[in-house]
Amino acid sequence: MGAAVQKNPHTTLVTPDAPIDAATHGGRAKCLQRLVRLDLPVPRTVSLSFEAVKRIAVGQMPDIAAVDDQFPPDALLCVRPSSEDPDWGGPGAVLNIGMNDAQYARLSERLGPRAAAALYSRFVQGYATHVARLDPDLFDSEPAEGHKGLQRMLRAYEDEADEPFPQSRTDQLSGVLRSMARAWEGTSARLLRQAKGAPADAGLGLVVQEMIPGLGQGECGSGVLQLADPVTGLPQLTGRYLSQSQGREALGAGAAALYLEKDPRGPSLEELAPEAFEALKADAALMRRRLREEMQVEFVIQDGQVHILDGVRIPRSPRAAVRIAVRLAEDGVITPQEAVMRVDPHSLNELLHRQVAPDADRDVLAAGIGASPGAATGRIVFSATAAQASAARRENCILVRRETAPEDVRGMHAAVGVLTEKGGMTSHAAVIGRGLGLPCIVGASELTFNTRDKTLRAPDGRILREGDIVTIDGSSGQVLAGEPAMLEAALDDAFQTLMGWADAARDIGIRANADTPADAQTARNFDAQGIGLCRTEHMFFEPGRLTVMREMIFADTSSGRAAVLARLLPMQREDFIQLFRIMEGSPVCIRLFDPPLHEFLPASRSGQRELAEALDLPVSDVTRRIEAMAEYNPMLGLRGVRLGVTVPEIYEMQARAIFEATIEASRSGDPVVPEIMIPLVSAKREVELIKARVDAVAAAVRSERGRNFTYRLGVMVETPRAALRAAEIAPHVSFLSFGTNDLTQMTYGLSRDDAGRFMSDYVRKGVFPEDPFHVLDIDGVGELLKLGAERGRAANPDLTVSICGEHGGNPESIAFCREAGFDYVSCSPFRVPVARLAAAQLAIAEETGQKPG
Ligand code: PEP
Ligand code: MG
Repeated sequence: MGAAVQKNPHTTLVTPDAPIDAATHGGRAKCLQRLVRLDLPVPRTVSLSFEAVKRIAVGQMPDIAAVDDQFPPDALLCVRPSSEDPDWGGPGAVLNIGMNDAQYARLSERLGPRAAAALYSRFVQGYATHVARLDPDLFDSEPAEGHKGLQRMLRAYEDEADEPFPQSRTDQLSGVLRSMARAWEGTSARLLRQAKGAPADAGLGLVVQEMIPGLGQGECGSGVLQLADPVTGLPQLTGRYLSQSQGREALGAGAAALYLEKDPRGPSLEELAPEAFEALKADAALMRRRLREEMQVEFVIQDGQVHILDGVRIPRSPRAAVRIAVRLAEDGVITPQEAVMRVDPHSLNELLHRQVAPDADRDVLAAGIGASPGAATGRIVFSATAAQASAARRENCILVRRETAPEDVRGMHAAVGVLTEKGGMTSHAAVIGRGLGLPCIVGASELTFNTRDKTLRAPDGRILREGDIVTIDGSSGQVLAGEPAMLEAALDDAFQTLMGWADAARDIGIRANADTPADAQTARNFDAQGIGLCRTEHMFFEPGRLTVMREMIFADTSSGRAAVLARLLPMQREDFIQLFRIMEGSPVCIRLFDPPLHEFLPASRSGQRELAEALDLPVSDVTRRIEAMAEYNPMLGLRGVRLGVTVPEIYEMQARAIFEATIEASRSGDPVVPEIMIPLVSAKREVELIKARVDAVAAAVRSERGRNFTYRLGVMVETPRAALRAAEIAPHVSFLSFGTNDLTQMTYGLSRDDAGRFMSDYVRKGVFPEDPFHVLDIDGVGELLKLGAERGRAANPDLTVSICGEHGGNPESIAFCREAGFDYVSCSPFRVPVARLAAAQLAIAEETGQKPG
């Protein structure tokens, strides 16, 4: 019998060399085997494979008697779930299998009738409801006290089930295994684990273990211990112990439970049973070293002797995950590369978020549950579509919903924060918000949500409308009016160490898209290797500049335009000096002016009147000029390099500002080699024309200032034609940077500003696997990227190739770019650490075959 279980790959006795693997028997079974190998005092255990449990669910029972025979005849057993990844959960553990009348009599002698009756009643109650599936009310309603209560419970079972309570341990075990196997197959369990990332066909293993009761003479009890804090990851022995208890009772026992180490707050296990405590600590340290992980140890003390029942990876916050990985590596338990592989890049978001400054004034509108940390300010929108439209306008928005559903996810991606009326820490909004690193407040029912009227009413009567600015503090759960001062994320030493190791392994560059000195500072703080895209037009929207810009647009002649631009020149020069200084000699890639000029003109009548006043022109003139400039397809119209060719004064002014700033910034710091990027190119001739003008400006500045400098000129590949004709463009430039936002728009012929309206339908119906503006379309747009890079490089072997569209920070896109041999990716500053870590993991995976996780 024993041999049958030991050799059987599906009902397997856990021995040091049994054929047990996490992929066939689950993580718990594998971990128990490791503990057995370490010679730790683990009770006898039989592991049932995924395959065995699958068969049990459909009624094909393995030889349960053979399993049962592995254990001493009068032992009690417990069964626990063992899914491949412990995070996927599973049915609750069942303890005390084997309780029957004979055990009751025996335990009554050892523990006293009252304790024995409580144990037996609890088992009958659990078995009746979970295994025999009897009406729970019948068993809940009778608090079974002592012998009488137990008898009542057994009678109720017999009446309802039409048979006496099973006395055979084998029968009880069969019933428990069957009910747990079926529970795993149930729809709600399936959905729950899929939400945690489990594949549809994820298997469940079960482990049957001899129980060490934790009850009886001498020091007996159970508890849980861990050597690191799950929130901070700092080394700290935490846990609880409860005398005369089983399972995880100690954790729910409040004040009755003991501290483990001596503690001023109350009595401890260290004082109660010092030898057991020392043994336990040594076992835990051994587990940490040999399992190469911070483990939570479930233990029982029986008559002073320690038994280790189980070990699970300490569940941990992202902050703790970083510190734990770094400490394990610093202690020599794992390598720095392994530490890098153990942190999920997406989870870094939580460490990186901004917070409301502690000393800021808080105008609190209401409070809900802070479900995803960090604070964000934006305009209120009430639908996912409005959120996407807002993002397309590059306006930060807070998505307000009564609750969120999967069709809101795209809107959540587009928002900077989410606020819901309903829900708790595990509601859809909370789970998705945390996944995205998006500040999120749920359950804000103090606010009256009127989504039809698009208003929110605060308890003090204030009404908020769509477009109003609020701040949500996902850490405290407060909804604040307006925009309080913010504090950038604090990044601790463990984070810096991990990122240092990541950088040592990484083999693709990471830059940031940064338009303002503040963005550049964030990029610098996150150790971006330069700016990959500075969208200069944003600088013209600043107050004081917009009017000058409009004057320039209204100027009739080239010399008139040049005169107005001369007033913008010092402002631009100052912008660039600041960027260069902040970046301290790292490359800064400045994109020349890109949007249609029309975007700078007022659309409303009142705005046009104001402009007429400022320019001292009749309103009708202004209106007519604005109308004349309107385009049917402005994004395909007079913008980017087309403006550079037809209204050359703008690029000339910008080139001059860049060169003068270069000289200025190089005076006091590292020499600056600016990169100038031409947007929206589709033909070689465009590049030749702009290059000639920029070279001429450089020559003029050099001779005027008597100073030399170099610069690099490049093309932003945003039209399919530029990618296809890369071979003839590349010889004129030093770099090509793919702007995948416009390139996606033009490859699909899909408006990046309007596609949100039907994108969810398209994705739901499987037309697109994903929103291509969010996840790079490897098949189509990706092919253009590959073609462009190959053709460009063939024509100019020194060509630098990169990507600077929004996709640049996405780990999957980084994998693609790395594979295609790109020199760097550029992404928003807050994505830089995510990108650094993701890129490092790709390099380590390739070099060592390790998988992240
Ligand atoms: C792009 O088109 O990918 C890009 C980065 O430029 P913008 O988003 O400013 O059009
Ligand atoms: Mg673009």
